Amino acid sequence: MMLTIEEAAKIIQSQNVKRSVIDRLIEDSLGYWLAEEITSPFDLPSFDNSAMDGYAVSGVSESYKITGEIQAGDISAKKLRDGEALRIFTGAKIPDSATAVVMQEKTRVKNNILFVEGEVSEGQHIRRRGNELSSGQTVFKPGHLISPASIGMIGSLGINSLKVYQKPSVRIISTGNELVPPGHTKELGQIYESNSYSLQSALESHGFRCEEKTHIKDDFSAIKQGIEAFLEASDVLLISGGISVGDYDFVKQALEENGVQELFYKVFQKPGKPLYFGRRDDTFVFALPGNPASSLTCFYIHVLPLLQKLSGANSTGLQRLDVPIDHDYDNTSDRPVFLKASIQNGRVSILDRQSSSMIHSMALGNALVFLNEPALISKGEQVQTILI
Ligand code: AMP
Ligand code: MG
Repeated sequence: MMLTIEEAAKIIQSQNVKRSVIDRLIEDSLGYWLAEEITSPFDLPSFDNSAMDGYAVSGVSESYKITGEIQAGDISAKKLRDGEALRIFTGAKIPDSATAVVMQEKTRVKNNILFVEGEVSEGQHIRRRGNELSSGQTVFKPGHLISPASIGMIGSLGINSLKVYQKPSVRIISTGNELVPPGHTKELGQIYESNSYSLQSALESHGFRCEEKTHIKDDFSAIKQGIEAFLEASDVLLISGGISVGDYDFVKQALEENGVQELFYKVFQKPGKPLYFGRRDDTFVFALPGNPASSLTCFYIHVLPLLQKLSGANSTGLQRLDVPIDHDYDNTSDRPVFLKASIQNGRVSILDRQSSSMIHSMALGNALVFLNEPALISKGEQVQTILI
């Protein structure tokens, strides 16, 4: 029995995983997932301050006597009395008795008297203490992905080091007698090995790293030994090729003989049907079909969510969006299908050359369209797209 895509996802998501926690400086924490809750140590802002360059005024009037100035970072000892104004700059602490800040562009000064154009309304242009966060408030929960804005937020709370989840250690094995590394001369019948490169960069583009990669010929004992060596050292092992039903597809048996427990084999999907997922102790193995588009599609749909889960993510998988299709499309696939596609100006086009052996269309596109069943789709209909 072949698994559905949802069943495969469920098996991946239901795995018990071990995670370790590490400390990172905030500047080194981009792309990690938080392993602790961050709460605000103080009200933010922690004092009422000016949102504008202008004047802090006391009382509501058309003119004020200017008695001094407060720069950002200053604490003014000056008392502001009714009818008085202080020159003030963005971010500077507001004196307690100020009614409002009047922006510079709405004022005129003559002989140290400030004239205001228009009404002064109470509290205007004052950023109040605690209006962004109050002391003790939850800022981020564990599992939050640390983005540049998250780092800015955490820095503004005075925190410079974080607890994050360690990322899994990943290794890649490519298999196949026919494969030659790019940069070398190939003979007739040979092709260039590309999957380990696309997989390695797919890892990198999502914040993961390939510790090590190797290529192994279609030789049972070499594959078995190679797998054993990498299994020991890795949290996740990705194997490309050799997992189909051909006479020289040795990967599945080699995994079995190395004590890897099969969690699923074959998913009702296109491309990527002969996908294998297994584990030995705390090491997970994906054996990906060798066709270039299959292996990369399987990475995005099935491997990436596991890597994110292992890294403590509170949500996994690529972003999915319903987007109107830019043309009619007759989907005749008997299996749920991931189609190479391109989103441009809010519309998606399914690209030519969809074969699982072809990666050019995937490289020109920026999305996959997911279609669950055969259907005639008309231009303008919404289809589910996955942003890659
Ligand atoms: P396999 O899954 O080993 O039967 O391979 C399926 C197809 O993908 C064959 O045409 C292989 O030549 C091709 N292929 C397998 N591995 C790679 C690779 N690492 N890079 C490029 N093509 C590959
Ligand atoms: Mg092969």
